[in-house]
Amino acid sequence: MKAGAAERDVTPPVGLEITHPVRANVGAHDPLFVKALVLQDDSGTTLAIVCTDLIGTDFGPADEIRKRIADELGIENVLLNFAHPHSSRGFGGYGDLPEESAEAVAWAQGARDAFVAVIAEALGKLAPVTIKAGRAAVQVGFNRRVTAENGYVYMDDNPDGPVVPWVNVLEVDNADGKPLDGARDKPLAILFEHAAHPVIVPNGTALVSADFPGAAVVRVREALGPDVIAMFAQGCQGNINGHPLRSTHENADAAGVKLGDAVLQAIESAEPITADTLRIRTGRTEMPTCELPPWDVIRQPVEKFKADFVAGDSPYWRQEEIDNFIAHFDKLEAMLARGESPPPWRMEATVVSLGDQWGLVAYSNEMFCQYELWVDEVAPFKHNMTFGLTNGATGYVADDAALALGTNGGYEAGCLPNLGSCDVMTRHYNPPAVGAEKIIHDLVTSLWA
Ligand SMILES: [Zn+2]
Repeated sequence: MKAGAAERDVTPPVGLEITHPVRANVGAHDPLFVKALVLQDDSGTTLAIVCTDLIGTDFGPADEIRKRIADELGIENVLLNFAHPHSSRGFGGYGDLPEESAEAVAWAQGARDAFVAVIAEALGKLAPVTIKAGRAAVQVGFNRRVTAENGYVYMDDNPDGPVVPWVNVLEVDNADGKPLDGARDKPLAILFEHAAHPVIVPNGTALVSADFPGAAVVRVREALGPDVIAMFAQGCQGNINGHPLRSTHENADAAGVKLGDAVLQAIESAEPITADTLRIRTGRTEMPTCELPPWDVIRQPVEKFKADFVAGDSPYWRQEEIDNFIAHFDKLEAMLARGESPPPWRMEATVVSLGDQWGLVAYSNEMFCQYELWVDEVAPFKHNMTFGLTNGATGYVADDAALALGTNGGYEAGCLPNLGSCDVMTRHYNPPAVGAEKIIHDLVTSLWA
């Protein structure tokens, strides 16, 4: 096996707003990166794993970047994972604004170019490696769905709800095994994955930050050396918030140190992966969108929203966001008047494996943690790693139990006429219909069969 790794700084310049929620940017508490790990086996099968501290991107821009990587670098197997810090930016309809300034367009183009450049650099550095996989227990967040007495799910820490209570680590070492501090192999790259929204940085600060994932990378490098490319990949974080939520930069740093220490612990007990043939399969499917109520039923809450917020006096919403919201539902009214329905949800998954020793499942979209726990339960691999938010996202994909709650389903799973759900702001206007879980399980199972 050969590998190469590289990174680029993509921190948005001062003045280019942080986008979730939209706020000023007076500088960076810590920088944002795009990082690549390229793996290539003896037969020439090549995989590029890209991890970035940006909040996300929709499928369209992810497709364009993957096409560029295929055309310019000849690599078809590409995983673009977004760490999702809310103190960053994104592009292409996910974490950007409808009206983009020339400066924002230029920054987004630079970030897209960096995805290609970082893989090109890693490809140029390919060298023989050995690989190990490990895991350690750690938790930097809580399940964020709590059910009220009236049945409605609201967002708050739920210590009883499911989380992914570990970090998965892939250690890629130079095959010539130069010792570091006389104790360890000298790693070329450390890829680690954990599932939690990076939302510990408060939304009151005007500083760009990669939140706890950035701090975890710093901790790993402190221990293993500045040359090591340490990469955080986001897992199935859809229903998990970092803790304590929107508190301080110091708390984000502390959570990062905790996660970084768990990565170092996982390395201590990591097992060598001797299988050396990469098997990579990608599949795509569609999930039906939960059926919409008639416009008459949706009209009422939309009219109420307009009456409440059209004056632009909301402390939380900027006028352009309010205008965007109203335009979104004007479009839906017109669509329903034409007798049309919103499109189904796109779902993509990739399974990468090394024999039955190690498997990586990468999902698109913001997946509930149950989809990661399921992989761990049923995947035919000894060591597992699971990504969410890979190769594009439209919104949240809940498990069937949450989708079955209908209008009570809360921010990640609720449906119209409840306007409080994130998914109603997507082009689908509603979350996937109940049954999504089976469609996703069938897709992934077919890929590792
Ligand atoms: Zn999110």
